[in-house]
Amino acid sequence: MSATMSRITLARRPDGSPVPEDFKLENAPLPSPEQGDVLIEVTHLSLDPYMRGRMDDVKSYAPSVDIGGTMTGQGVGRVLESRADGITKGDIVTGMTGWASHACLPASDIRRLDADLPPSTALGVLGMPGLTGWVGLHKYGRPQKGETLVVGAATGPVGSMVGQLAKSMGLRTIAIAGGEEKCRLATETFGFDAAIDHRAHKDAKSLREAIAKAAPDGVDIYWENVAGKLLEAVLPLMNVHGRIPVCGMIAWYGGDNIADTNQLPSLWRSVLVKRLHVSGFIIFDHWNEYPAFLADVGPKVASGDIAYLEDVAEGLKNMPQTFIEMLKGGNVGKQIVKL
Ligand code: NDP
Repeated sequence: MSATMSRITLARRPDGSPVPEDFKLENAPLPSPEQGDVLIEVTHLSLDPYMRGRMDDVKSYAPSVDIGGTMTGQGVGRVLESRADGITKGDIVTGMTGWASHACLPASDIRRLDADLPPSTALGVLGMPGLTGWVGLHKYGRPQKGETLVVGAATGPVGSMVGQLAKSMGLRTIAIAGGEEKCRLATETFGFDAAIDHRAHKDAKSLREAIAKAAPDGVDIYWENVAGKLLEAVLPLMNVHGRIPVCGMIAWYGGDNIADTNQLPSLWRSVLVKRLHVSGFIIFDHWNEYPAFLADVGPKVASGDIAYLEDVAEGLKNMPQTFIEMLKGGNVGKQIVKL
């Protein structure tokens, strides 16, 4: 066992999109577990868009990372030492390890993983992003057979879950994704009926025309992952009583690409005129549904009925650059970093 561990800390708050200088790779003494704690050697770390928000010093649904603090995040790893009942050395577990090679966590904050599926699935298709798609679609999307759904970031872990579940319920599913390769994966791997490359459309009007062609009966559910140009494109296409689960707005996370606020009156008017149901939600409020999600989706992942893609980078030191690229669409599928 090494006497030190490595971690990535927040060196300073980003100004817009993050840059490598916002992060610092540091060594620290390896912690010793106290009674009830477990020492974990991390094998896989998750990179998620929400981490961008934690780098800012603003009031939100979860606390910011302090300057000098370890970047927040979920990991999977092997138990090196346990001082807790029910968890033994060698168990594979998941918890909020942070961007670090090791973590010492209370046993109550970790979950032991089944040996049947690759442990990295606990970070994506069977983890927080998968649960987000499952809960949000059923609760806020309220899909009905024959309806049309549009989702952006469609090959990511949230978008691909939403698309596959909607398709299995008899909806027409339209993927918005960045680039030809992701569009191909959207239809071939995730079964979307149509896929549109948002990068091939210079403005919302052009993107709207493409979506309108793919959605001849209008849009009943717009799953909001992205905002920006896509939101402006889709809103006028919404059908009366359409639903918009507001899950994320990644186009705006860096503070750039903020749509012209002059658009706000006409966009807001669409909500009134079409009687849209716009539902913001944060997955933290739905963790109690995790067992039901796992019982429903776990067997479908094991049988291959739900497909998933993982993009696996290597090495803790490469976390910042991989994160920076993911925010710009560099990932193909759930972004994992293997240590
Ligand atoms: P992804 O793995 O899909 O990664 C982000 C993707 O966003 C990129 O690959 C890129 O895909 C797309 N993207 C980035 N910038 C833009 C842009 N300017 N315009 C259009 N697309 C862009 O992420 P996740 O599946 O993990 O998350 C999807 C969304 O869900 C995020 O907004 C995230 O914050 C949100 N989320 C919300 C939760 C909640 O509790 N509300 C919980 C979990 C996630 P492409 O190249 O295809 O454009």
